[in-house]
Amino acid sequence: MTEPIQDRLVSLRRSFHRHPEPAWREFTTTARLVEEIRGIGVDELAVGPDAYDPADRMAVPDADLEPWIERARERGADESLLERMTGGNTGAVAILERGDGPSIGLRVDIDGLFIEESTDPDHDPVDEGFRSEIDGTMHACGHDVHMTWGLAVLESIAESDFAGRLVVFFQPAEETGGGGCPMARSDFASGLDYLLAVHVGLDHPTGEVIAGIEKPLAMCHVDVTIEGTSAHAGKAPNEGANAMHAMGSGIVNAYGIPRHSDGMTRVNVGRAEAGTASNVIAERAHMECEARGETTALMEYTKRRLERTMRSAAKMHGCRADVEVVSESPRADSDPELQALVSEVAGGVAGVDRVVPAADFGASEDATFLMERVQEDGGLATYMIVGTDHPTSHHTPTFDVDERSLQHGVDVLVGTIRELEARHPVPQADAGDATPADDASAEVGE
Ligand SMILES: [Zn+2]
Repeated sequence: MTEPIQDRLVSLRRSFHRHPEPAWREFTTTARLVEEIRGIGVDELAVGPDAYDPADRMAVPDADLEPWIERARERGADESLLERMTGGNTGAVAILERGDGPSIGLRVDIDGLFIEESTDPDHDPVDEGFRSEIDGTMHACGHDVHMTWGLAVLESIAESDFAGRLVVFFQPAEETGGGGCPMARSDFASGLDYLLAVHVGLDHPTGEVIAGIEKPLAMCHVDVTIEGTSAHAGKAPNEGANAMHAMGSGIVNAYGIPRHSDGMTRVNVGRAEAGTASNVIAERAHMECEARGETTALMEYTKRRLERTMRSAAKMHGCRADVEVVSESPRADSDPELQALVSEVAGGVAGVDRVVPAADFGASEDATFLMERVQEDGGLATYMIVGTDHPTSHHTPTFDVDERSLQHGVDVLVGTIRELEARHPVPQADAGDATPADDASAEVGE
């Protein structure tokens, strides 16, 4: 890094912040990442379909990609890169191959959200001139910070005498739970001894580091379409099959799915629409729902019940329900051996004044696909949080970060990678010790 490091981190983060792109539309973002990665100089760089099998992607939008490709083109994205990303195959994997040593993965996510960023002059990105330049889209979760970390770690390790293999996953479509699975199934995820995933903030203040989260909720997104028969609401309502009515029954009963004695579950219908006019029996209804569980099995239980409820509600009204699982992610917990190592490293990082070895997550994340893959292959994984003072919560128009956390994240990640190299192989706890994650894969009864 030629500029003073903090300035360079800030300018990178701000440049990503100005160009937020939602899931599977990260064309400008990927092109920018590739440009930076080429500048750093890596041993292998795979973009889009070279990084994963496009068939493994989940929650890919059917339409709407073209304007994003056009915008990326206008912003000077490399034409051959855009061609390779055709169909929304965004994201990249960068690899440093530096001789004998551990194989370490780092996963960062790259997508923005459909949120209109605030124009309030008190909002720093407005005041400092790096507010989102794309209407209705915003980096409101801090993935601009994550990408900056990914690049800075890559650069720092590339310039060091690190011996081993470093694989950095620049994962698209985290917000829709669509990008974790293809990354985890790719060849780049095989043979990893360690996996580090990281998030900024999440209500933890600047100077605090969580070495590894526990109990992320397994989650699935489910779309339900109900097809009925339209009819005149006055003349012949009896001739219709009311998709609106079926939808109403489905929603009410979805919230009536019993809790489970094995642990916590969640269900929600977050979006619903049906019908065309007050005097028409609605022919079609559409809902976007989700189910979560404390374990993957509990999520599966809730998902099965949700599906049954929607199909039954449709049938009761003479309609048909089409249920589609758009995306899903399992539960995976951080390994205690890595939590301990990250805690130790973070404790020595300048500016970090509080280290929490483990904390419950309470939300969902598709990094769990990669964590699960590495753990199944006998490796260790952790999902850490680097705190930042954020003025408002994640996914709000005034979300922002304290840019001092940029350096903290780089130092914790680079320090952890070097320590893993020094201590490899990190001794693993006795496999006989049952952890909650073991229960997570067990079937639970209806
Ligand atoms: Zn996020």
